[in-house]
Amino acid sequence: MKIFAPDYYKDFRCIAGSCQHSCCIGWEIDIDRKTADFYKNVPENFGKRLCENIDFHEEGGTFRLCENERCPFLNEKGLCDIIINLGESALGQVCDDHPRFRNFYESRTEIGLGLCCEAAAKLILEKQSPFSVSEIEDDSEFTETVPEEERFFAFREKAFRTVQNRNLPMERRIENLLELCETSLPEKTFSEWAEIYLGLERLDKKWTEVLEYMAKNPSPPKIPDEVSAEQLLCYYLFRHFSIEEPELSCAFAVLNFYITEKAAEYTGLLESARLYSSEIEYSDENKEKLLDIIYETEV
Ligand code: SF4
Repeated sequence: MKIFAPDYYKDFRCIAGSCQHSCCIGWEIDIDRKTADFYKNVPENFGKRLCENIDFHEEGGTFRLCENERCPFLNEKGLCDIIINLGESALGQVCDDHPRFRNFYESRTEIGLGLCCEAAAKLILEKQSPFSVSEIEDDSEFTETVPEEERFFAFREKAFRTVQNRNLPMERRIENLLELCETSLPEKTFSEWAEIYLGLERLDKKWTEVLEYMAKNPSPPKIPDEVSAEQLLCYYLFRHFSIEEPELSCAFAVLNFYITEKAAEYTGLLESARLYSSEIEYSDENKEKLLDIIYETEV
């Protein structure tokens, strides 16, 4: 399979003990079947500890979270006791993969880093050179091209270049992007969007505070740093722009961008991107509801 990734992908490093919002807190963590079987057979004390802290089931297992929804193997220094005792290769797929996401095509798989991880958010949003995607691996026999996908990737490149036109202010670049994709956002004030987002499932109290701020401050966001804004929109396009629904997914990427930028007035951009990603990108239900709203109103 050919694997494509953004240029910053290989520079990602988990900051583990220094992470302020560890992915080992607050999330249900599944264990794939192969790893669960391995954990069941770890000998001695650590094996006993694994068995006592995992609910095993047909699909594999799930860690039994401790108080404050901490993974039972996240120690007080913020490090993983499974890695310390058994090595990194003992991690299950979910733990090993985070914060990576994948988009699957017939001719390639694309892999990216999610903004819900603060180390990934810093890497993505503080980068100065323009975002680009390239092949990082090819171990496939499949050499044919898929014309429909080739057209889509070429069109998406055009969309990236439109967002990366640094001769124009960000507002103008977004207008050009929406025009290129023949789409638009529903006409709503930020107060109205805030009410919509308040009606979605929410995880973090901080996100509720952000939305309450937005409800009271409906003016469009000021964009203090155009380079990080550009990286943010390219990230949303790379993650969500879809071959099946280019108009809808482009509008969704732009909505994500505006709400993140507006939220940044309250929290700063790194934190608003992290919150937005955790609250929306990792909830299929929330994403679907927002896509439905865009679809029903405008596209
Ligand atoms: S959120 Fe990112 S930096 Fe923090 S522990 Fe998880 S992978 Fe590491």
